[in-house]
Amino acid sequence: MIELIGIDKIAEQMQEVLIGKTIERVKVNQKKALNVAEEVYGQRTKGASVTEVRTHGKWLIIALDNSEHLLLSFTLGNDIFYFENGAIKKIKYPHNVEVHFDDDSGFTARFWWFEKFYLLNFTELSEISEDKHAALDPLDEAFTLDYFTTVLSGKKSQIKSFLMSQKKIGGLSGMYMHDILWGAGIHPAKKISEISVNDIKKLHTSIHEKITFFRRHMDFFDESKAFVGDDFFIAYLDNEEPCPNCGTPIQYLKTGSSSTYVCSTCQQL
Ligand SMILES: [Zn+2]
Repeated sequence: MIELIGIDKIAEQMQEVLIGKTIERVKVNQKKALNVAEEVYGQRTKGASVTEVRTHGKWLIIALDNSEHLLLSFTLGNDIFYFENGAIKKIKYPHNVEVHFDDDSGFTARFWWFEKFYLLNFTELSEISEDKHAALDPLDEAFTLDYFTTVLSGKKSQIKSFLMSQKKIGGLSGMYMHDILWGAGIHPAKKISEISVNDIKKLHTSIHEKITFFRRHMDFFDESKAFVGDDFFIAYLDNEEPCPNCGTPIQYLKTGSSSTYVCSTCQQL
């Protein structure tokens, strides 16, 4: 059996406990995430019960029995936690979104940066489902070495800024890029045209490994498993702390428009 991680695991865990629960209220502390006003969100969901939790690409979809759907865009870097008996305060991470059920249970979601928390009816949902331009998830079967090589082929920009700016591969946000590039031994400012075939293979493997690692931390029932700064390898080390691989002091370098943690020995230009 395939091990479920990340969004798929969360969806299965939500299925286990949320089916049949009735929404009492929805509170959103980050209004920019919404596609409708918060009051409208409340009116259209109050009293409706959860019939299914599923995923579609980066979307976590919570279907309700009144044909409404709560959609949470779920990239790397958000967490969603369950609570019972009104114990919402025990969840120490920020509550960007709170969904309360009428049995005093519910869940919170925290966003590490801007995310979406949409409410869509059947018709609107079908439009989202047909979005063929959605970025490929790095753990999708289609994210093969061939695909990755094709995306990089003929490109002349620096590897880090390219991976962050392009729209074909999703979820490669800054916080993960430090460790991904370090894991592959590639300097963030390296020009794509100068990266060897072997190093592209290493980078593809590193993306897969590091993202799998971070997604394993996601757990609907256990906030204590959420990853913290110490779970990163070189990212967020204090300046001059040693590289876990070779002991060289890690540097925080400006590369292009952003900064990156780099080991000057493991990641040479
Ligand atoms: Zn090193």
